[in-house]
Amino acid sequence: MKIYNTLTKQKEEFVPLNPPNVKIYMCGPTVYDYFHIGNARSFIMSDIVRKYLEYKGYNVTFIMNLTDVDDKIIKKANEENKSAKEVSEFYISEFFKDIDKLKVKRASNHPKATEYMNEMIDMIKKLEAKGIAYNVDGNVFYDVSKFQEYGKLSGKRIEDLEAGARVEVNEEKKHPLDFALWKKAKEGEPYWESPWGKGRPGWHIECSAMSCKLLGESFDIHAGGHDLIFPHHENEIAQSEAANEKPFVKYWIHFGFLNINEEKMSKSLGNFFTAREILKSFSTEAIRLFFAQAHYRGPLNFSDELIRAAEKGVEKLSNTYERILEEIKKNFETKSELNYDFRKWYDDFENAMDDDLNTASAVAVLFDFSREVNRIISENNFNKDFLFGAKDFLDKTAEGIFGLISTQSQSSPSLEDELIQLLIKLRLDAKLEKNYTLSDKIRDELKNLGIILQDSKEGSTYKKVKK
Ligand code: AMP
Ligand code: ZN
Repeated sequence: MKIYNTLTKQKEEFVPLNPPNVKIYMCGPTVYDYFHIGNARSFIMSDIVRKYLEYKGYNVTFIMNLTDVDDKIIKKANEENKSAKEVSEFYISEFFKDIDKLKVKRASNHPKATEYMNEMIDMIKKLEAKGIAYNVDGNVFYDVSKFQEYGKLSGKRIEDLEAGARVEVNEEKKHPLDFALWKKAKEGEPYWESPWGKGRPGWHIECSAMSCKLLGESFDIHAGGHDLIFPHHENEIAQSEAANEKPFVKYWIHFGFLNINEEKMSKSLGNFFTAREILKSFSTEAIRLFFAQAHYRGPLNFSDELIRAAEKGVEKLSNTYERILEEIKKNFETKSELNYDFRKWYDDFENAMDDDLNTASAVAVLFDFSREVNRIISENNFNKDFLFGAKDFLDKTAEGIFGLISTQSQSSPSLEDELIQLLIKLRLDAKLEKNYTLSDKIRDELKNLGIILQDSKEGSTYKKVKK
């Protein structure tokens, strides 16, 4: 499998540090609001990466942190007259509701920054002892001039860099690019005790400390949205590698931004839709297909039209899946000798995914497969092995990795099923009233429709047979 590594700026063969284990850290949400559909793109794509590696047989540990200490949380708490904890806890539980709805599998662990204070303080102490961190009256900064390789991820050179977006300007710093490891507490802000006095950690140290604690000093993959390359991930490397004196991460994966009218979607620009707003108009599966049809690294423009088109695509795949289930349910015996080989489909699918996660090509394989299944079923030349093989392929790929199948049976029982259950109940009532003429009539009429009732001590079940 080849994957583009932001660190080396090329596609590289994916070789885990300690196979079959793969350790992934993904930068999760800052929990001060509902997340928007741009964030959802990064969460969903990281879910696809994780699930594909699991599909390939790796034993994946996937960590997605929750940034629950941040200026934006404090601001919101002050606006709403609540504590920062009340705000973050509320949005954490809403975050879980939304990712569940979006079929993003929960991480092996969702660490909260506030629960790793000791680890952060220890790491800052280590940096201070090495002369890389400096304390100015309770504010501790990282001295970027002390880390030779600063800029290796983003490709930026210290001397070219000016203080800009997400780089705080502060007169206490020796260099504009030095960044806060520990921030002295201000009036009315939440704080923790530390060797430098009361305060709270900087954002970058949170991810270095949590990833190191949960995945070790060196691990396989670190992921996040494209905006995080600089300064967040550049600073994580500087902190972790200076503190541990080991390479921090082997592969860096960055997801392209979701734009709106060719401009990045972000809270600060105010041009965003929350994921839950979008879920009112579109299905989870259509949203996931819309993302999967674009390459994960490139920017993508939000488009109602394309999501609506994706809704049709989901319907096609799901109808094929339903058709397979229907045929399986009929429980018939066939004499077809068809000995169908699914290997080609798995190969095509994997070849696409192994080429730097070409999800768009992989999805195209699924649509071709769906057409093939429909043709074979229409020609009536299939057997049970074929049906189970086809179901298995879609379960593992279309649903298991991409989350694209939406079935009636998944959401609610079909009307047909409910009507049969109603007749079973009426037959039982008739029997209890000793009205055997009626109960036998119901059984026989159902049989004429190809529905065979099977009675047991627990009640009646049914199976469908080919008429
Ligand atoms: P935040 O809550 O802003 O820290 O972002 C959570 C995750 O979403 C991070 O991995 C970001 O890089 C990512 N992200 C933020 N905005 C977008 C966007 N418009 N498109 C794709 N990913 C984004
Ligand atoms: Zn992070």
